[in-house]
Amino acid sequence: MWRSQIFTLYPEIFPGPLDKGLYGKALEKKLWDMKVVNIRDTAIDKHKTVDDTPYGGGSGMLLKADVLANSLDQNKIDGERIFYLSPRGKKFDQNFALELSKEKSISLICGHFEGVDERVLTTRKIEEISIGDYVLSGGEAAAFVVLDSILRLLPGVLGNEKSIEDESFQSGLLEYPQYTKPQIWEKKSVPEVLLSGDHNKIKNWRLSQSEAITRDRRPDLWQKYKNN
Ligand code: SAH
Repeated sequence: MWRSQIFTLYPEIFPGPLDKGLYGKALEKKLWDMKVVNIRDTAIDKHKTVDDTPYGGGSGMLLKADVLANSLDQNKIDGERIFYLSPRGKKFDQNFALELSKEKSISLICGHFEGVDERVLTTRKIEEISIGDYVLSGGEAAAFVVLDSILRLLPGVLGNEKSIEDESFQSGLLEYPQYTKPQIWEKKSVPEVLLSGDHNKIKNWRLSQSEAITRDRRPDLWQKYKNN
């Protein structure tokens, strides 16, 4: 079973969208698991304070090192990689998702306010993940993104492993256009080649479409693909 631990101030948000559909079935089948930890549970004062103002001044509040570290230490799993969701982190992508899908267990810390005390990141050897160059108000939405992209890669979760292979990014190319019934809709027919039954022709058409879309929309991916 692939395991995750989520450290958050808003435990009620989880598992959110992740216990629906195929992911929900996979959760029941114990193909994956999520333990949600409320960071506030390890707050020590009677007000359950989790944050404080930054030394040196500046706006906002920081998650306190002692509270977060206690929370992590109480739930420590030997050998487990711990990640803090943060705009400063390594940019998350499909390869990163694949790498994490091969771990036994990962911990994700959802930050809030201005972030967390730096000392907890260094002493607990925490890696940072960013889901993109923009700033969210909290790490929860980022945790959903990271988990969603990992879960579909776990054996048995989607049921059809082939559908993963064809997906955007897996081959370094974006996906080709897809069509379903009805064959004619608003006077537009689906491309003739898809009705031909000629698997080779279909494969070539899809590849050329994928290449054209990638070249047009993502010159960065196109360069990488051409150099491979
Ligand atoms: N002051 C911080 C931003 C804090 S945003 C900075 O300038 O770097 C509040 C929280 O939202 C963060 O602690 C983090 O957990 C989450 N977050 C914001 N943007 C994110 C992103 N692009 N990727 C992952 N997590 C993000």
